[in-house]
Amino acid sequence: MKPYDAIILGAGGAGLMCAAVAGQRGRRVLVIDHADAPGKKILISGGGRCNFTNVQARAECYLSASPHFAKSALSRYRPDDFIALVDHYHIAWHEKTLGQLFCDGSAKQIVAMLLEECAAGGVGIALGKAVTAIDHADGQYRISYGAETATAPSLVIATGGPSIPKMGATGFAYDVARRFGLKIVEPRPALVPLTLGGDELMFRELSGLATDVIARAGKTQFREAALFTHRGLSGPAILQISSYWTHGAPISLNLLPDHSSNWLRDLKRSRPRIGLRTALGGTLPDRLADALAQRIALTTELGNAPDRTLETIEQKLGNWVFNPTGTEGFAKAEVTAGGIATNALSGQTMQARKVPGLYAIGEAVDVTGWLGGYNFQWAWASGWAAGQAL
Ligand SMILES: Cc1cc2nc3c(=O)[nH]c(=O)nc-3n(C[C@H](O)[C@H](O)[C@H](O)COP(=O)(O)OP(=O)(O)OC[C@H]3O[C@@H](n4cnc5c(N)ncnc54)[C@H](O)[C@@H]3O)c2cc1C
Repeated sequence: MKPYDAIILGAGGAGLMCAAVAGQRGRRVLVIDHADAPGKKILISGGGRCNFTNVQARAECYLSASPHFAKSALSRYRPDDFIALVDHYHIAWHEKTLGQLFCDGSAKQIVAMLLEECAAGGVGIALGKAVTAIDHADGQYRISYGAETATAPSLVIATGGPSIPKMGATGFAYDVARRFGLKIVEPRPALVPLTLGGDELMFRELSGLATDVIARAGKTQFREAALFTHRGLSGPAILQISSYWTHGAPISLNLLPDHSSNWLRDLKRSRPRIGLRTALGGTLPDRLADALAQRIALTTELGNAPDRTLETIEQKLGNWVFNPTGTEGFAKAEVTAGGIATNALSGQTMQARKVPGLYAIGEAVDVTGWLGGYNFQWAWASGWAAGQAL
C-alpha cells in the first residue's frame, strides 16, 4: 500500500497539468491511466500539431449548464500562462487563424513538456493499469489498480469524456462521480459532423466541397468553412454549431456571407442577360453553384425575373435551412458536451463541495469549449486550479 497526497485518474492534458502543479508544490502525486501512453488525445490533436490554446479564450466561449462556472479557473490560468510554459521549453509555435496557436513541430513536444513538468514535481505515473476498485473511508481514498493499491486524502477525476472511444475514451468519470453522489448533465457528442437524410442527401453529390459560410443554430452563429460530406455536413463552422444544435431543430447556412442583401437585384441591373447559375458561379465553387442553381430552378435571365423573386432567392441563399437527422456520434466527436454537473463543484478549486477531497477537471466536467484550442485551455486551467488546491 503506497500513501500519496493525491491520486489523479487520467493522464490526459488536465490530469498531467494538475499532477505537475501539485507535485511541484511538494505534494506526493500518483497518476493512473489505463492507456499504455499518456496524453494520447494531445498527440492526435490539431492534425498532430496540437492547437494548444486560443488567445481569445474567455468564459463565453464555453458551453455549460452553469455559464459562469469556468470563469474563475480561466481567469487564473490564462493562455499567456501556457504560452510562457511552452516558450520556457523552446517549443516553436504559430497563430494559424482566429487566435488558434499550434506547435510548429509536433504535439509530441507538448506531451514531453508536461511529462518533464511532472518529473520536476516527482509525480508517479502508472500506465496500462485499469482501476478496479475505489473505496473511501476515514478521509482516505483507496484505489486498486492492476495488482497494486494506493491511498490518498484527495482523488482527482480527470478521465475525460466518451468521445473517440477507439482511443480508450470512456464514461468512467461519470461512474466515479455518480458513486459519490455527483450529478451528470446528459453527455452528448459535440464538435461533431451532422448527418442529413431525405431530400437533403442530394447534397452528397457535393461531398468534399468546402465553402465559407455563416452557420446558425438558434441565436448562435459562426463564420468559418463548411464541408459537404457523403453523410451530411462537417468543417469548422458545422463542428462549432453542432455543439449548440439540439435534435429536431434546423440549422441554417448563409452561403454568401460577403454579399449585401440585394446583390442579385443589383446584378439584374448591371448584367440583365445572365442567368442564376452564372451569377452564383461568380463567387461560389462551380459544383456548389450548379447544385444551388438546379434546386432554385430560376428559368429566366435575371433581367426578366421580378425583383420579388430575386429577393426571395437572396434570402434563401442567405439562410439555407438544413434539418440534420443526427450527428456522427461519439465515434467522431472531438469533445463531449455535458458531464459532471458543475453546481456541486467549487469553481475555485474544482473540489466537490460535499465530498471532501474529491475533485473533477478537464473534459469530464460539464464545460465544453469552442473549436480552436479552447478545450485544451480548459484542461490546463481546470488542472492548474485543482493542482493549486491539492
Ligand atoms: C481528434 C481530436 C482532436 C482534438 N484537437 C484539439 C485541439 O487541437 N485543441 C483543443 O483545444 N482540443 C482538441 N481536442 C479536444 C481535447 O483533446 C480534449 O478536450 C482534451 O484532451 C481533454 O483533456 P482531458 O485531460 O480532460 O481528457 P483526455 O485527454 O481525454 O484524457 C483522459 C485520460 O483518461 C484516461 N482514461 C479514460 N478512462 C479511463 C479509465 N477507466 N481508467 C483510467 N484511465 C482512463 C484516458 O486514457 C486518457 O489518457 C481534440 C479532440 C480530438 C478527439
